[in-house]
Amino acid sequence: MPGPWPEAVPGMASGGSRDSATAGYRGRFAPSPTGPLHAGSLVAALASWLDARAHAGRWLVRIEDVDLPRCPPGQDEVILGQLARCGLVPDEPPWWQSRRSADYRAARDRLLQDGRAYPCGCTRSEIEAVLAGRGRVTPAGHEMVYPGTCRDGLEGRAPRATRLRVRDCLTRWVDRRLGPQEQDVALAVGDFVLHRADGLAAYQLAVVVDDSAQGITHVVRGVDLADNTPRQIQLQQALGLPRPSYLHTPLVLAADGQKLSKQNGAQALDLQDPVAALQAAGQVLGLAPMAAGSLAEWLSQAVRSWAGIIASFDPRTTA
Ligand SMILES: [Zn+2]
Repeated sequence: MPGPWPEAVPGMASGGSRDSATAGYRGRFAPSPTGPLHAGSLVAALASWLDARAHAGRWLVRIEDVDLPRCPPGQDEVILGQLARCGLVPDEPPWWQSRRSADYRAARDRLLQDGRAYPCGCTRSEIEAVLAGRGRVTPAGHEMVYPGTCRDGLEGRAPRATRLRVRDCLTRWVDRRLGPQEQDVALAVGDFVLHRADGLAAYQLAVVVDDSAQGITHVVRGVDLADNTPRQIQLQQALGLPRPSYLHTPLVLAADGQKLSKQNGAQALDLQDPVAALQAAGQVLGLAPMAAGSLAEWLSQAVRSWAGIIASFDPRTTA
């Protein structure tokens, strides 16, 4: 996939703090191209870029279009153009998840072979019925906890999805900003879907397979994705893959206090003045106010400010 992205971008990569330099740092920004970037997704993009630069590392972009029918054509190029306008240019050609389904299927098949995953023949309404029969109510906005119906076999039903056999124990990890975290995945979501009934890889599987295939060492993303981390860690363990370090950033909130999204009125970014847009994103991340100058000046000041922020994290939690 040829593109205008050079193998390496000189300049900024060497501007990072020596103290926080991490050999082989590879980070990524992984937008879903369901629409253009908005103020919230720019925060995630900027945070991941700043962290890569502050560690003198490499920054990649991965287009998470595994659910291609939900992604209007051309939005990927719109996003890449918006990033470039903000001076955020990936160090390697972007990846598109829609081109990676063979690798996701291979990972699924390996898990099935190893007995770490199993086929599930349940429809959504069947799962709801089992949960209702056990008196379990799923609160609005929460995922249904899979009741384990197909754990011991399909009993003659046709396979639909593939589920991970979740370990029944606390999954613990340390977030660089939030500190020690834990979740009982079995209690929170149960055996979750890796490969969907429509033949597409589920989000968790695609992310874990790609983070490993791209050699990602540091995941920096919005805190709304923090509760996916334990599922991804269980999946990394099941596949024998390394665990990256995690940093979950604050979110831009909409007027209603919810995460900013297209559904609650996030406007497409106005990039007439990219420095102003970056300034607003930087504020969410706690960057010190910076004199507005050129884009390049703003970005290099921001890297220094970010290096100070991450240096202030509790050293015990710094990966
Ligand atoms: Zn099932």
